[in-house]
Amino acid sequence: MQKFSIVVHGGAGTILKEDMTPELEAAYIKGLQDAINAGYAVLEEGGTSVNAVKAACVTLEDNLLFNAGRGSVFTKKGVQEMDAAIMDGNGLAAGAVAGVRNVRNPIELATEVMINSNHVFLSGKGANDFAIKQGIKLEPDEFFFSQFRYDQWRALRDSDNYSLDHTHQGLEELMKDKKFGTIGAAACDIQGNIAASTSTGGMTNKKYGRIGDSPIIGAGTYANNKTCAISCTGHGEPFIRAVAAHDVSCLMEYKGMTLQQAMNQVVNVTLVAMEGEGGMIGVDAAGNTSLIFNSAGMYRAMKNSEGESFVGIYKD
Ligand code: ASP
Repeated sequence: MQKFSIVVHGGAGTILKEDMTPELEAAYIKGLQDAINAGYAVLEEGGTSVNAVKAACVTLEDNLLFNAGRGSVFTKKGVQEMDAAIMDGNGLAAGAVAGVRNVRNPIELATEVMINSNHVFLSGKGANDFAIKQGIKLEPDEFFFSQFRYDQWRALRDSDNYSLDHTHQGLEELMKDKKFGTIGAAACDIQGNIAASTSTGGMTNKKYGRIGDSPIIGAGTYANNKTCAISCTGHGEPFIRAVAAHDVSCLMEYKGMTLQQAMNQVVNVTLVAMEGEGGMIGVDAAGNTSLIFNSAGMYRAMKNSEGESFVGIYKD
């Protein structure tokens, strides 16, 4: 019988137990559990992997703790610009948006691009106009505001530095203590179709117009029924240069590696050599899952139809 499964992440980086309060840790774990349960419920009802990853991502985008949708980080200009992508491994359809503002759930907009436009990737005002045309929910700036992201940005805004996410400290710590906060999901459904999605606010104090790996098909997000569905999190620039998610697929297709072997090669060899800190989650069409990172921690969870489930934050 076809195994179905889902994996989610909520960002990777220098996430250490000693920096965490028990309350915050419990809130992160609950956020991850809510996401995995939302996605798994879709799969359990016989829904598609595309709908499962979308459901999981919406839950994480709506959670202020994670850097996507509500709770996104501030750019150099003090606003939120969000990126998202989704890909269907069954037929290789894909949709992505970059630099969108005031869109409550950028992953829904990316899905709209995939299903109801002739394009794969829309950015900035064009993407926002498309959101309005398609009736995608918009929210005022206040909806996206969180004090802790604002404080992160205030510590950096007068400098040219930019920072990865999940940190509660000042400028010096921000720069040496890199943390990433993107969210993502990958799933395999009862039909053996796989999909991946990623959504992010990017990096604190990022330059106006900067786009990370998350919405770039093949870099931060990729799905192909023949190989794998992958969602990445980490320092976007090396992930783009490594074409990280697609490289996992290539290693499986052309070198015959398993999902686990291919992800390990990209995360722990290729990206490490490029100082690309972060990680990724993946599934294959047999429902196997893998969650790999080269940083101190990665917010992550998995669940499958064989009764296995897991939620983790730190390196075990
Ligand atoms: N990869 C994201 C970016 O570079 C950041 C993250 O994963 O937190 O925009």
